[in-house]
Amino acid sequence: METIKTKVIVVGGGPGGYVAAIRCGQLGFDTVLVEKERLGGTCLIRGCIPSKALIHAAGQFEAIARVAEGGRLGISLASPPQLDFAGTVRWKEGIVNQLNNGIAGLLKRAKVKVVQGWATFSDAKTCRVTGADTDVVITAEHVILANGSVPVELPFLPFGGSVISSTEALSLPELPKSLVVVGGGYIGLELGIAFRKLGSQVAVVEAQQQILPLYDEQLVEPVRRWLKRKNVITHLGAKAVGIDEAGTGLVIETDSRERLTLQADKILVATGRRPAVDGWGLEHMAVAIDGGFVRVDERCATSMKNVWAIGDLVGEPMLAHKASMQGEMVAEIIAGHRRRFDPVAIPAVCFTEPEIVSVETGATTADLQDAIVSTFPFQANGRALSMNGVEDGGFVRVVARKSDHRILRIHAVGPHVSELVGEFTQAIEMGAVLQDIACTIHAHPTLGEAFHEAALKGLGHAIHA
Ligand code: FAD
Ligand code: NAD
Repeated sequence: METIKTKVIVVGGGPGGYVAAIRCGQLGFDTVLVEKERLGGTCLIRGCIPSKALIHAAGQFEAIARVAEGGRLGISLASPPQLDFAGTVRWKEGIVNQLNNGIAGLLKRAKVKVVQGWATFSDAKTCRVTGADTDVVITAEHVILANGSVPVELPFLPFGGSVISSTEALSLPELPKSLVVVGGGYIGLELGIAFRKLGSQVAVVEAQQQILPLYDEQLVEPVRRWLKRKNVITHLGAKAVGIDEAGTGLVIETDSRERLTLQADKILVATGRRPAVDGWGLEHMAVAIDGGFVRVDERCATSMKNVWAIGDLVGEPMLAHKASMQGEMVAEIIAGHRRRFDPVAIPAVCFTEPEIVSVETGATTADLQDAIVSTFPFQANGRALSMNGVEDGGFVRVVARKSDHRILRIHAVGPHVSELVGEFTQAIEMGAVLQDIACTIHAHPTLGEAFHEAALKGLGHAIHA
């Protein structure tokens, strides 16, 4: 059996692991990256990128279909568009393949050795990697664990047949005529809305009293309106409890303990993800666990010396950009840099219709109690109107401390607001006050002007509201 001794081993080729490995390579470390499947992990292969590709295609299809129905833009079509769903899935795969090749190239350029196979640890610094053409024992001075997460499987709704996770939903052979989504969170709504735009009948079952319960009611309202307008039925305060005897219907229990059966071609279960802690010898590494996640300090150090952990494996928020930032940081800490994972804010974007953005500091209740809350509607923004993007409402909301105008939170809901998130996060990370935004010239006509106006409004002198 082959043996490899290396300075750093990274387990997992997702946005946490591959970024950590590239940075280790750039810093001159002998680095091995182990990945069981394809480089890119959940995010590239079955998460962020394929879902956003599907969401984009669905948006294009719906926009063209609306034109065919007689849209308001003075454009007409002789007949409605036709969907070749298999072609859409192939196009999405093409993007995934292109980025997958790109990561392989970047790792090669950074001189990272990629070993394809499943790593199983026998102690904290030694693992055996087995795969189709691989059987190798690797020992390393430093171990970076980036094993990621897997979908939560409900015991009464096991995956298989018509019950699918997001992975299958992103590669279906044909468009389901009807889809029931269990879980009205990120995945359920992003994909539920995309399938509705493509033509599926969609229903959403959410245990809480609101879809996207992580966000406040006002922020979610435009999405709720879109769902209503598009006849997406939402069962709130309802829980999935199993499949009916015929094996085709989802049985749900409502708040009032009433049982309903929802018939659907596919049942997408999107009730959260859990850290991938099973089946790779974590128990042999003497690494502490906290609430199911690998416990780390602010340097992403585990309880075992020179074993580091990053990304979905170490806790919420389970987001690709958090994983990547932690990966880069750990590589630099190994190189002796003084770094800590201490962002002022980790941005979150929900790619629904319309999109939602949230950037929050860890502001205290006392800070928030007496804060300035300034909301500027996209109805008064020329760019949003010229994009025909305010049918269901939308706004930018800025929350600032009254005493010094320091910005504590920025929220937005509206067309393409995901592209504003960089400016929002930078403002908060750099400690901006309302005057900083008010005194920055925002180009016209852009959606960003709504942020400018929200800051002006917070100072008591908005121009367009
Ligand atoms: P992962 O990406 O999960 O990668 C872990 C990798 O480790 C996997 O490839 C796995 O095969 C490998 N692995 C695990 N154990 C072993 C082992 N023992 N040996 C070898 N290999 C191993 N986040 C966003 O920020 N924005 C989005 O828009 C977004 N959309 C999403 C949409 C969907 C449908 C899903 C499911 C997730 C989405 N996410 C999104 C979340 C995002 O994908 C994750 O937060 C991110 O992938 C976590 O990165 P990671 O590197 O920690 O782990
Ligand atoms: P989620 O936590 O966002 O939503 C799960 C929802 O399911 C919750 O609203 C919960 O109340 C509900 N639920 C739980 N059990 C239920 C039951 N038995 N019946 C009905 N409803 C039930 O989880 P997700 O949508 O599976 O996404 C997982 C993670 O993936 C997210 O937390 C996020 O970190 C990541 N993600 C991010 C993005 C993005 O950044 N745009 C997109 C997709 C996924």
